[in-house]
Amino acid sequence: MQPEAERQSPYLSVVIPVFNEEENLVELHARLATTLNRQDYAWEVIYVDDGSRDRSWEILEGLNQRDEHVRLVRFNRNYGQHMAVFAGFERVRGQVVATLDADLQNPPEDVPMLVARLEEGYDVVGGWRQFRQDSWLRKLPSRIVNIVTSKVVGVELKDYGCMLRAYRREVVDAMSACQETSSFIPALANTYANKVLEIPVGHSQRHAGQSKYSLLKLFRLHFDLMTGFSVLPIQLVSLMGSIVALVGLAFGLFLFARRIIVGPEVEGVFTLFAILFVFVGLQILGVGLIGEYVGRIYREVRRRPRFVVRETRD
Ligand code: UDP
Ligand code: MG
Repeated sequence: MQPEAERQSPYLSVVIPVFNEEENLVELHARLATTLNRQDYAWEVIYVDDGSRDRSWEILEGLNQRDEHVRLVRFNRNYGQHMAVFAGFERVRGQVVATLDADLQNPPEDVPMLVARLEEGYDVVGGWRQFRQDSWLRKLPSRIVNIVTSKVVGVELKDYGCMLRAYRREVVDAMSACQETSSFIPALANTYANKVLEIPVGHSQRHAGQSKYSLLKLFRLHFDLMTGFSVLPIQLVSLMGSIVALVGLAFGLFLFARRIIVGPEVEGVFTLFAILFVFVGLQILGVGLIGEYVGRIYREVRRRPRFVVRETRD
């Protein structure tokens, strides 16, 4: 038994989003508890049930009854992994906050290592899945996202997608204060952190069950990430538009000169069609991006609650 005071304010809070993970929870918690009980600080874990439709909640309730380190939050439906983590962030009591996935892809044994590095004076310590155990279909988009996001957000990170991370409480509180409807936590953290460190962590295959991300869900998440953190995409489109227009003008002048010197060209009509399609494509892309920003403004302006908590257990 821990002393009462210690239980009131743990040093470390772990936040874990849970969506249909019934086969993983018992082992996950066993491994996490074994690891953290060996540390000389008090800890708590907040499991956020993101509207699971399997037995996840019952299993979590069982853990909550057996282990006083366990606190629970339950959504009334599925709002997505990042919203679940935000709900956990709003309730953390520790000075240091760690997040990881519930499917045992991130080894719980790595948490103390992240926390230790945080104590060296970093604000965020991110895990970097050095030997990532996912299909190339998952890894390729991630690689592109990592490169582009590093440029856009302005902080070079090898792995934006890894949720095995540790944060100083100030950073977490700043993130909680954002209240944005769609957000990407690792990128958001970097806008509030002064010193960011990235260290290699383990990564395994999913313990049980299937990935909760379809390709479409993944695409939307990454698109949110790009537009949520900068207006660079829209500026790039404008720049591209100007360049394309200039090239088009030059090409028109060339055709005009050719007509005077060589005579009219008829065969080249379809080339022009091709070029036209490029223009049209670019325009649509531009309009789509503008729409994305306007949509974002609309969502933020409405100020709707981001998620609904059905119940909590302490
Ligand atoms: N998750 C969630 N809500 C969702 C999707 C996922 O809370 O709508 C949780 C899931 O239970 C897991 C973590 O987020 O703990 C990562 O999900 P998953 O393993 O499916 O993603 P992947 O590893 O395939 O990127
Ligand atoms: Mg996973």
